[in-house]
Amino acid sequence: MSAYADGLRFECTQCGNCCTGAPGYVWVSPPDTHAIADHLGLSIVEFLSRYTRLVSTVLSLVEKPGGDCVFLDEDRRCTIQAVKPRQCLSYPFWPRLLASREAWNEEAVHCPGMNEGPLYRPEEIDRIANRETPREGVCRVFQKVRARS
Ligand code: SF4
Ligand code: SF4
Repeated sequence: MSAYADGLRFECTQCGNCCTGAPGYVWVSPPDTHAIADHLGLSIVEFLSRYTRLVSTVLSLVEKPGGDCVFLDEDRRCTIQAVKPRQCLSYPFWPRLLASREAWNEEAVHCPGMNEGPLYRPEEIDRIANRETPREGVCRVFQKVRARS
């Protein structure tokens, strides 16, 4: 039986916790790149050079000193909400957090929206989680590497 057979509750409080703190990675796929560059009125090259960095062979958003996302404003709001990367869109319904209730509840310590709000049915969760791209698979590898280091 899946760890979320009874569904999971989630409602984002807009606290900004998942966009701040220790350095990490926000992977940017080609569709993300086009959408964000268009939203910002930048060419692809301008967007890539100003706002992304290459991690191995994968693009991630740059961060401010301290680790906050470059697109988080002073009120801890995402300034590219309408076009934020798919990795952000699917949070917290990430495969590694859906793997067990323990993993989900550990993450909920940092995300006050988890276990609160409307109930998402398993099929809705699958639909959101299946936004996963190969880029996010790489993200999981990096998270494992970071967890070990
Ligand atoms: S940590 Fe959770 S509640 Fe806070 S902004 Fe991120 S998703 Fe929303
Ligand atoms: S793009 Fe927006 S939602 Fe994603 S980490 Fe940055 S500020 Fe947060």
